[in-house]
Amino acid sequence: MSDPQFERLTLIGIGLIGSSIAHVARERQLAKEIVISTRSQETLNRAEELGLGDRYYLDAAEAVEGADLVILCVPVGANGAIAQWIAPSLAPGAILTDVGSTKTSVVNDIRPHVPDGVHLIPGHPIAGTEHSGPDAGFSTLFENRWCILTPEAGTDETALEKLKEFWKACGSTVDIMDVQHHDLVLAIVSHLPQLIAYNIVGTADDLETVTKSEVIKYSASGFRDFTRLAASDPTMWRDICLNNKDAILEMLARFSEDLSALQRAIRWGDGDSLFQLFERTRGIRKSIIEAGQDTDAPNFGRPIGTSSADDGSQNS
Ligand code: NAP
Repeated sequence: MSDPQFERLTLIGIGLIGSSIAHVARERQLAKEIVISTRSQETLNRAEELGLGDRYYLDAAEAVEGADLVILCVPVGANGAIAQWIAPSLAPGAILTDVGSTKTSVVNDIRPHVPDGVHLIPGHPIAGTEHSGPDAGFSTLFENRWCILTPEAGTDETALEKLKEFWKACGSTVDIMDVQHHDLVLAIVSHLPQLIAYNIVGTADDLETVTKSEVIKYSASGFRDFTRLAASDPTMWRDICLNNKDAILEMLARFSEDLSALQRAIRWGDGDSLFQLFERTRGIRKSIIEAGQDTDAPNFGRPIGTSSADDGSQNS
């Protein structure tokens, strides 16, 4: 087991993920020094007010000087330009990683700029909330969550081990995958649900026969659980759609086919098919709870009876 501690950790981008890494790294002493860089003065000032780092830069190239761990925590579409900017300033032997939600495009965008002697090891913590910005982060975000690393063939074993230990020290369990497989898995578990949420909330907003106030008033029937996802950062999700296009389109095609089958079952009064599907999907929820990936408490553990409309997702 290698020491998870780094001499100098540089975070480029200090939103939800960057600030959460800063908090946990500080709390568990995973780096002797934390250097922060972001593109706007406003966010940089806020990061400083929150005391997230030891030094603060608008210039990303200056920020990575002498760092032995550099983590890119920006929307996936921004990685290529940042990699090009910082490449000449990266220290030999440094580990360069990211937290982007897509991996094939990130590797394609970053790889051409990485100098020899710098270890590129792409990563993706499977942890998040619908909030963004430096105030959104907290030190336990990665606790009991997975972190996927997608090292290329021939990646330096010592560097990989060191990054694994870092994520373990953040509270995560590390899994290794190739980039294409990562993008396919994430398309179904994350990107498709997000698109369904955006779509259903958009549809409800467009309806003319049901008023907006009714949608909001009766949202506890199920709708509100989609609104949490649909409130996520538009820039981040635009970039994910543009950068994981093939896998997302493949999953959307499968989803549309299955939706048509569901439509047919309802049209023809095929109760057996409906029941079988609903029974099968209930089992998936049980497995997620058993794997410790969500609470077993009714209605996600929300306080019961706090509002007259709060009658749980079982009601329709
Ligand atoms: P965030 O809270 O919106 O923060 C984004 C950060 O990136 C800010 O510091 C922002 O800088 C900077 N930034 C935005 N656009 C940029 C650009 N074009 N060039 C340079 N910097 C830019 O985002 P986040 O939720 O932390 O997400 C960061 C990364 O983590 C994304 O790649 C996302 O795919 C991945 N991720 C997110 C989640 C999640 O649930 N949120 C989960 C896992 C992985 P300014 O504020 O200074 O403009």
